Amino acid sequence: MNSPESAAESAVAAPICSAKGCRADAVWVLAWNNPKLHTPERRKTWLACEEHREHLSSFLGVRGFLKDVVTLAEWESGRSGTEGSQGPGPDGPPGTERP
Ligand SMILES: [Zn+2]
Repeated sequence: MNSPESAAESAVAAPICSAKGCRADAVWVLAWNNPKLHTPERRKTWLACEEHREHLSSFLGVRGFLKDVVTLAEWESGRSGTEGSQGPGPDGPPGTERP
């Protein structure tokens, strides 16, 4: 089934950083996987601006979730043909963890 919604979603201009409260244009894509929640092949993605790339990647890195960090342009050129959701997704943005 082809949903017109998914096409509209990918047409959204200027994706923004996934960092909490940040509205800057995303430059980087952080690909990650939580082995407790996801199958090994699964990739969740966070978007990051230049400023938050390090913060977000270390957030994922210390948990052992971080798989890949690529530029947004590189990510989009490399993911043609693969399906997947873009953006922070249902797992929520960083900064929402409980103390
Ligand atoms: Zn940011």
